[in-house]
Amino acid sequence: MSIPFLDLKAINLRSKDAFHEALDRVLDSGWLILGKEAEAFEFEFAAYCESNYCIGVGNGLDALHLILRAYGIGEGDEVIVPSNTYIATWLAASYAGAKPVPVEPDERTYNINPDLIEAAITPNTKAIMAVHLYGQCADMDPIMAIAEKYGLKVIEDAAQAHGALYKGRKAGSLGHAAGFSFYPGKNLGALGDGGAVTTCDAELAEKIRVLRNYGSERKYHNAVKGYNSRLDELQAAVLRVKLPLLDEDNAHRGEVAKLYSEGLKGAPNLTLPFVPEWSSPVWHLYVVRSSQRDDLQGALHEEGIGTMIHYPIPPHLQPAYVEFGWKEGDFPIAEAMAVEVLSLAMGPQQTDLVTSYIIEQLKGRTNV
Ligand SMILES: *Cc1c(COP(=O)(O)O)cnc(C)c1O
Repeated sequence: MSIPFLDLKAINLRSKDAFHEALDRVLDSGWLILGKEAEAFEFEFAAYCESNYCIGVGNGLDALHLILRAYGIGEGDEVIVPSNTYIATWLAASYAGAKPVPVEPDERTYNINPDLIEAAITPNTKAIMAVHLYGQCADMDPIMAIAEKYGLKVIEDAAQAHGALYKGRKAGSLGHAAGFSFYPGKNLGALGDGGAVTTCDAELAEKIRVLRNYGSERKYHNAVKGYNSRLDELQAAVLRVKLPLLDEDNAHRGEVAKLYSEGLKGAPNLTLPFVPEWSSPVWHLYVVRSSQRDDLQGALHEEGIGTMIHYPIPPHLQPAYVEFGWKEGDFPIAEAMAVEVLSLAMGPQQTDLVTSYIIEQLKGRTNV
């Protein structure tokens, strides 16, 4: 038996006919960039996220970067980021010219620990990047309270959290602005790269619309030095096919997660995901933690069971960030996670049989 970590091919083949129709629609329209499909998707996704505005951009990293730029955050500024996120969160700050300032996560939720944020704030701090890691929202109320106290912007990195709820409210509507990714493997994935910003701030939305399109409000008139980062018509059309499936897909992920959590409960030396009572995660990833992580992963792979590690090296230890001189021991929670986390197979079409098989294989191997 061979079990993929994520069967992306099967996920997309479900919608093959609808994709072909969408392609025909785009071809027949004769319009390939910033046309009706992108506009319609922006409207639909803003509504889905319970936000006022959505601006389609080239990818998730650009979404985060353009938000920072639109807020005028750059050289000499600091942006608080989780120490254990995907490096794109940090890169967004770096692209803008700002310094990413890491804060360690809560050991139970793996999201940024609000109790540690204030100690990292300096007179140069301008924003907090609240990453909804693995599909579970960060604890936004205390984060927003700190932001209000210090006059900071809160930017949700919602790249893993399309549809996740925090106290009944949707990811993408919780901070001042949010960046989403439609990278193929995300809960809502395109057939290539794509991203979006959601916000209720009309002025910010307009600035990002201009920035994503060369800084031009009117063709060939450039108010600012902008970028070329737009959501293609074709990807927008694909996303319009997939958005109506998202809630059902997320619900199925929830069922897979429930099976894992029930089946693996009490397994020695295995920490299961923790879900606070205010949280409804969308299970982008189901991440367990074990001091025998590498042995477990090796044993599962020998059985043909795919797993992944999110993420094996924290950003502060990446050569890309050597400039700050961070060393091992500076962010011990992120460092421990890097050697202990293991993402189990998860997807909107994963069968109970497959999930049960993985549980059995895993259970027999903990505490070896
Ligand atoms: C995927 C991801 C991004 C970047 O999105 P891209 O579309 O790949 O640029 C940013 N942050 C997090 C947490 C992600 O998982």
